[in-house]
Amino acid sequence: MVFPFRSVEDFKVELTEEHELFRKSVREFVENKVMPRWREIEESNSVPEDIKREMIAMGFTGVGIPEEYGGQGGGFLMSSILTEELSRASVALSVTVGVRDLFVVPLLRFGSEELKRRYVPPVARGEANAAHANTEPVAGSDVASIQSRARKVNGSYVLSGRKVFITGAGEADYFIVSARTEDPLPDKRWWGITCFVVEKDWPGVKIGQQFRVMGLRGEQPYEVILDEVKVPEENIVGKVNEGFKVLMDTYDHTRIGVAAQGVGIAQAAFEKALNYALQRETFGSPIIAHGIIAEKIADMYMRLQAARLLTYWAATLADKGRPEFLVAASLAKAYATEAAEWIARQAIQIHGAYGVDFETGIERYLRDAIITTIYEGTNEIQRLVITRQLVRQAFGLKI
Ligand SMILES: Cc1cc2nc3c(=O)[nH]c(=O)nc-3n(C[C@H](O)[C@H](O)[C@H](O)COP(=O)(O)OP(=O)(O)OC[C@H]3O[C@@H](n4cnc5c(N)ncnc54)[C@H](O)[C@@H]3O)c2cc1C
Repeated sequence: MVFPFRSVEDFKVELTEEHELFRKSVREFVENKVMPRWREIEESNSVPEDIKREMIAMGFTGVGIPEEYGGQGGGFLMSSILTEELSRASVALSVTVGVRDLFVVPLLRFGSEELKRRYVPPVARGEANAAHANTEPVAGSDVASIQSRARKVNGSYVLSGRKVFITGAGEADYFIVSARTEDPLPDKRWWGITCFVVEKDWPGVKIGQQFRVMGLRGEQPYEVILDEVKVPEENIVGKVNEGFKVLMDTYDHTRIGVAAQGVGIAQAAFEKALNYALQRETFGSPIIAHGIIAEKIADMYMRLQAARLLTYWAATLADKGRPEFLVAASLAKAYATEAAEWIARQAIQIHGAYGVDFETGIERYLRDAIITTIYEGTNEIQRLVITRQLVRQAFGLKI
């Protein structure tokens, strides 16, 4: 193999029959139970409780979590397929299930055995909900500039701060929360941040306003206020002052899920556009027979399949624990979410006026796709990661 691949192992997508059987079962569920109710989810701005219950009964909350911690096993590729298929019907639905990854991944990778045993199984079994509270009013991409503080008092930590845009906070029982335990060092801005598991019912945890973001209706984020919340020392995830590493490692893994959301949105928009282009007639023929529309359909399909391959590739590398997954995950996240945005936009255009009408159910794809280009590392940040990783791999240089 030649650069950038070191071996054939770096360039495989390892889909199996089991993955496809699983996809079929998720697709059957969403087509029967969710797709007919997309309007209800959008209008009520919530995912109906019976749908949530059914997703738990089908084991979706445990996909990607090892069986020894109450999950179904399956890894990142299986989780990507679940996310893709749920997002094809409703991104909110995939976020409802997917937000637990932002809690479970850091616990599984950095948490003590005690923390894993206490907090992961209830989430995997759908008995408890979890959220990830890192972003602050003045700190999103620049995680090192968070202002929440945690001071040590008699063997515990006392947390204060304000977190914004926290998905799933309204229903979460547990949060992973970042806070500064020490000031940064002059040559290490990242130093001094620590991650903690905080429970909703602990004194001082308050859920604030719900943000009215343009998409993700059914699962819009909240403000979380921490007012002198006492947290036991054993609830620290990873090492004190090294929480930045926990957070970055988490996003490296979870952004594969955002790529899968992009693939699901793109698939849905593409299918609707193709069907409409075959049915709608102008000037005596179906619009797909007009060259410009046919070309749009081909370009949409090209980007959709490239996005899917990149996503499955990144998930395969992550499942194998290969370090190359880092660049693959960023390539997949940026490409798939931009593909979704572009494909959703083309789907609207192909539908003409019906495309911008709420009732057709097309414009929501664009609203949702734009959000996927922003969270879990904006696509600008992904480009920085890609270039950094590339230069490191090719020349061994740090930029
Ligand atoms: C719907 C939704 C749900 C969310 N859920 C969660 C959640 O559950 N938990 C959580 O902690 N956070 C959550 N977030 C927050 C999200 O992760 C942040 O919004 C995101 O990381 C970007 O941070 P920011 O909004 O502060 O933008 P900023 O970091 O202020 O960036 C502003 C702009 O500048 C660009 N930029 C910043 N730095 C650079 C750079 N070095 N080079 C080039 N361009 C740069 C960005 O790409 C962006 O375009 C959510 C956000 C949304 C919209």
